[in-house]
Amino acid sequence: MTCPRCGKETWDNRTKKMDDPQWKNAADFTCKDKACGWKSGQPASPVGATTPIAVPAVSQAPQNGSRDAQLVALYWTCFDEVLQGLKTRSMASGFPGSEIAACVATMFIARSKIL
Ligand SMILES: [Zn+2]
Repeated sequence: MTCPRCGKETWDNRTKKMDDPQWKNAADFTCKDKACGWKSGQPASPVGATTPIAVPAVSQAPQNGSRDAQLVALYWTCFDEVLQGLKTRSMASGFPGSEIAACVATMFIARSKIL
């Protein structure tokens, strides 16, 4: 193979690694240009140069997970607020649970659109 850093020839150390225990931990390929000094396993750019490591795109799962958690949290916020609102209006006792659920759902749906 050619050196990915300088494009010159590289030493193939793989047979040497098998034959000579001293080479056991050596890189499979090393650049023939000592000034370059590239070894396989190293990035192509020179050591010290800032290689912009591609930031892995945030996978969908955690995003959905946090969105889901946000929605769950929002639902219970709505629930608490509806109950709180009813309590301050002295309506909690006479207000059917199904109506409370409907209020919560209405509030939740409206708010989840802008979450
Ligand atoms: Zn090189």
